[in-house]
This record gives sequence, structure tokens and C-alpha cells, in this order.
Amino acid sequence: ANNLHTWFDLRQWGFLRIGSVRAVDGVDFELARGEAVAFVGESGCGKSTLARTLLGLHRPTSGDVTFDGQELSTLKGEARQQYLASVGYVQQDPFGALPPFMDVRRLLSEPLIIHGVKDRDTREKRIRQVLEEVRLTQVDEILPKFPHMLSGGQQQRVVIARALLLEPSMLIADEPVSMLDASVRVEILNLLRNIQKQRSLTLAFITHDLSTVRHYADRIFVMYAGRIVEQAPVEKLLDSPQHPYTQSLLAAIADVDADNALEERDVPSGEPPSLLKPPQGCRFHPRCPKAIAGTCDVKDPPFFEPQTGHFSACWLHDEAHRG
Ligand code: SF4
Ligand code: MG
Repeated sequence: ANNLHTWFDLRQWGFLRIGSVRAVDGVDFELARGEAVAFVGESGCGKSTLARTLLGLHRPTSGDVTFDGQELSTLKGEARQQYLASVGYVQQDPFGALPPFMDVRRLLSEPLIIHGVKDRDTREKRIRQVLEEVRLTQVDEILPKFPHMLSGGQQQRVVIARALLLEPSMLIADEPVSMLDASVRVEILNLLRNIQKQRSLTLAFITHDLSTVRHYADRIFVMYAGRIVEQAPVEKLLDSPQHPYTQSLLAAIADVDADNALEERDVPSGEPPSLLKPPQGCRFHPRCPKAIAGTCDVKDPPFFEPQTGHFSACWLHDEAHRG
């Protein structure tokens, strides 16, 4: 894997402060071009902030996003515009993402006009192409419609089409199906995955739902309280989770699947910690069933590599704590 083309590199990303809230704190990862990754965690764990930082909407106070060897914060003018055009964004709420008074033709024309596509026929051709790509094949029916005239699934397809218009090299999808009817969720996820593969896009898929990621990502990052606590290829992570937090998330899903009310539930009890004042030591220790007193509440665990390519930030992987 040494000719892996590294695309993002968030080394030494220290604190990202929003007010005094530590939303994404010491997050460090690399994404390869053409790779689909999922960031998974409960709400408030910093996933959306991470997305907004990648989109250049938030500035990390220390550390940086490196894109093709260049630090995002140093990009100015043209280079910055180019970066922003190369990252497509698919939000959680498609209706909120679409300007209500523009029909589909107009709202898809706008980004092209802004980016200098002056010729009307060229624009029309590009718009038709992306609509077909997102399987809105009744193009002539869709083009004159306003967002409120479309179903939630159609709205999200339009959002995806808009994200593809400028030929991005990366897509960030933040909870792309959580506000949609259950019946269309799988279709939209499949669509994103197929587009990602066909275009060899890097896809960063952000979700609170570990049960949906198996078919839609190559690698998973589990986030807790502003940090990545476990990262591994998808099968490894789901089939042999190493971090107690991930284990409890998976146990909660298994319980729902089994629908077995008698089974003792192993859901992480209690609330996720406040990011204003994260707990000392391992941030999961107040909720962790395996916490080691005197260690977990004192020292912050570093990443261990309990299996090759599988990283987990937990003291249980330390020789000294294995019983
Ligand atoms: Fe639990 Fe300790 Fe591991 Fe944190 S470091 S997850 S508290 S066992
Ligand atoms: Mg969010």
C-alpha cells in the first residue's frame, strides 16, 4: 500500500474550537483517492463539524487539512475556489438545502453560471447528464418543478446532482438519508455508492447509524466526543470491534435486530459527554463497562493496533492492562 495516493492528511490537527466547544479534537486521518469512508458516532460527537472543516466552512485553530500536498488554510483565491469546487456536499435535509423559489433547471444552472459555464446548451447538456446519473430519468418532467413539488427522495437526488455538476473529486454526505422515508433510504445509499465507484470519487459518509455502513464504505472511523476512537476496514470493524464504545453500539443494533426484550441490553448507558468539558482520561470512561479504575479516568489512551490495520484507542490493548 505504499503507492496509495494520499489525498487528505489531517496530521497534527489539534483543537478545533467553536466558541469554547471542543468539537473536533485531535482528529487525525488520511483518505485515499477513490476510497469510501464512514464517520460514525452519536449526535454531538463532532462528525458534522469535521465535515464542515473539510468543506472549508470552519477553520481548525491548529493543524490543518492537507489536500494534494497543500494546506487548505493557505489556499487563496483561485486555488481555494478550485478546492471548494472539487468537494461536493450532500446535506441531511434536502429540502432545506434547495432554494425554494428556484425550479430544478434554475437551481442546477446557477452553480455552472457561477463557475463560468456561459453557454446555455452546454449547461443544459450537463444538467441532463447529472439528472440521469442520479436516476431522475423523467428529465423533462423534473426540470420545471420546484423543490416542494418533489418527494424527499427526489429532492435528495437533485441535491446529489447539484453536488456532481462541477465534477468533484470528493463527496461529503452528512446523514444523507436520516430525514428520508425508510422506503427510499437504501436506494439513495446505493446510488451514492454506485456514483462513488463509477466516478472513483472519495466519499466521506457521515452517519450515526453503524448498521447502514457495511455496504457503503471501505473503511470506518468511529468517533466519540470529538475524537476518532477506532478505525479499520469495514468488515474488520463490524466483525471484530475492538473498542468498548464500538462494541456497545453494535450490541445495541443486534438487540434491535433480534427484537429480544428479555435479552439484557448492553447499550452505552448515560449521555455522551459535554464537549465543553470532556471527561479526563478516556472520554468514554464514565460510560464504559470495562473501565480500569486508576488508568482510564486519568490517562488518555493512545491508538493501539490490536490487529494489523485496525486501530483502537483503548487501554485494554496495552500489554500492561491485559489480565
Ligand atoms: Fe473503556 Fe478504558 Fe478502553 Fe476507555 S480506555 S474504552 S474507559 S477500557
Ligand atoms: Mg450532524
